[in-house]
Amino acid sequence: MIAQDERLREALRARGQRVTPQRLMIAATVRDLDRHATAEQIFTDVAGRMPGVSLPTVYATLELLEEIGLVRRVATQGGTAVYDPRTDQHHHLVCRRCGAIVDVDGAVDHAELLTAARGAGFAPDEAQVVIRGLCASCRAEAVAV
Ligand SMILES: [Zn+2]
Ligand SMILES: [Zn+2]
Repeated sequence: MIAQDERLREALRARGQRVTPQRLMIAATVRDLDRHATAEQIFTDVAGRMPGVSLPTVYATLELLEEIGLVRRVATQGGTAVYDPRTDQHHHLVCRRCGAIVDVDGAVDHAELLTAARGAGFAPDEAQVVIRGLCASCRAEAVAV
């Protein structure tokens, strides 16, 4: 039994929801994809492995996985969210031209940011930094043109 599946089972039971093969498959797919993926991309993959899973089930399960800390949601260009199986603290580079999303590690004073957020009357869940710009290959193309 994978520990992450056990956490999902417990969370579902705590909410009075059933532990279904579909929900476990969605969690396994997020792990197996092992990259930043939109709900639609995850849905496509899940549907290929287990026909009959609906997009609303994928959305609801991703929301639950985020709530229990098994995925992180990253807001990207244009407001589309991607789901990230890497749950330790890290940040993202988002290319404004091709939409590429890349992990980046670096020290950020989260305590100060969260304190400022609370000062504004906000109850923060987490802080993550998104750095926008041009990725290496889009930069190379921009120079070539
Ligand atoms: Zn790019
Ligand atoms: Zn990431």
